[in-house]
Amino acid sequence: MTDAIIIGAGAAGLAAARDLSGAGKTVVILEARERIGGRIFTNHVADVPLPIELGAEFIHGEAQETFAIVEAAALLVYQLPDDHWWSTGKQWRRMPDFWKAQKKIWARVPARGHDISVADFLKRQKSLSPRLKRLAINFVEGYHASHADRISAASMRGTGEENEAPKQFRIANGYDALLEVLRTGLDPSRSVVHLATEVTEVHWKKGSVDVRTRRGDSFHARAAVVTIPLGVWKSEAAIEFDPRLRQKERAVEKLEVGHDVKIVFRFRERFWDPTCNFVHTMDPFLPTWWTTAPARSTLLTGWAGGHAADRLLAANDIAGRALQSLASSFMVNRRKIDSLLDSVHMHNWQADPFSRGAYSYAGVGGEGAHNSLAKPVAGTIFFAGEATTAEETGTVAGAITTGRRAAKQLLAALA
Ligand SMILES: Cc1cc2nc3c(=O)[nH]c(=O)nc-3n(C[C@H](O)[C@H](O)[C@H](O)COP(=O)(O)OP(=O)(O)OC[C@H]3O[C@@H](n4cnc5c(N)ncnc54)[C@H](O)[C@@H]3O)c2cc1C
Repeated sequence: MTDAIIIGAGAAGLAAARDLSGAGKTVVILEARERIGGRIFTNHVADVPLPIELGAEFIHGEAQETFAIVEAAALLVYQLPDDHWWSTGKQWRRMPDFWKAQKKIWARVPARGHDISVADFLKRQKSLSPRLKRLAINFVEGYHASHADRISAASMRGTGEENEAPKQFRIANGYDALLEVLRTGLDPSRSVVHLATEVTEVHWKKGSVDVRTRRGDSFHARAAVVTIPLGVWKSEAAIEFDPRLRQKERAVEKLEVGHDVKIVFRFRERFWDPTCNFVHTMDPFLPTWWTTAPARSTLLTGWAGGHAADRLLAANDIAGRALQSLASSFMVNRRKIDSLLDSVHMHNWQADPFSRGAYSYAGVGGEGAHNSLAKPVAGTIFFAGEATTAEETGTVAGAITTGRRAAKQLLAALA
């Protein structure tokens, strides 16, 4: 019998499969999409010299698990300048204190007491300046793709404790280069990947799983690793477990799915300072922009999370609305922008049935829920994916770490 069925071939599933097959176990990976990678989705466009990342783009900090792979495979990685600007629509101001300000805000969350939303927490901070409050909202809605009125304040406690700004990196050849390392690391004699294979049911008892797919196939194994995104857990089309996993259902209820829009524009020529990196604004639709600095290119990326993403997604013409925001934040005439526009690249992660959102965050009172979702069941069903870590939620590093953790747990259970 197969040792393990892995549901999902994103970073978590591939990392789990690699470790398991490397340890001599047989694995079958069932992936609903026709490609591997999940929320890593790199487009290589013929005449664009840089990869276009429709999903994950940055390595946040010196993420150990990611760098272990990057360094072993000698991938080319470069560090981004920590250069943040604030645009009022009338002028741009450099923000040398971006991370220091975050530290100051989140250190105020009390260590004990009843959890409240970040929006309520900020309302109570009478001595915090409106600018810092605005920055805090931009951070939770942008960086965490969350809704400020739903994200747990307790889960933000101590965020940005680092004394220095966290370093950010990009993989020069594209994030899919990292996927390729994971994929080629699967032992071909012990692993098989089935694409376009959506799992709909998992029937299980201790030491045995029977996994059924929408196509009507059935796969048997001694154990399963479930790596589906939180949005899929929460959807009507969620995988049915028999017997039900009630503890997981409760954890899923306490977690929230972040929303985002990431839209990449390619222009015929650059109309911004190429050394500038991140631009933050008060724009209600697209409050964050970034360039490809330190690389000089004609690509600009717009990012909206939380409520801004919801507003933008409701627009009839998302790209047109985004260009309008760009014109006002960069103080450039809209007609000029339109005349320079070459191409638009985006993927709607909310509408995608196999992600149904960006990434997870803890809702009010849900501080421990990521860890509950992570707990194995009866030494037979194991859990991985960005929503199963409280420390590295919403990152590729978190996905890899949890995939490796699930593999280790499964190996111990099968020993
Ligand atoms: C727009 C965007 C930008 C991001 N930017 C960054 C960034 O800059 N840096 C960073 O570190 N992280 C970033 N992230 C987050 C990062 O992409 C994710 O945390 C990480 O890729 C998640 O990996 P995973 O394996 O947990 O989940 P996924 O990659 O979602 O993999 C789960 C897999 O399960 C499959 N699946 C779903 N349902 C089923 C089913 N029923 N049957 C079979 N298979 C199924 C899916 O198709 C998918 O391939 C970003 C995410 C988004 C959406």
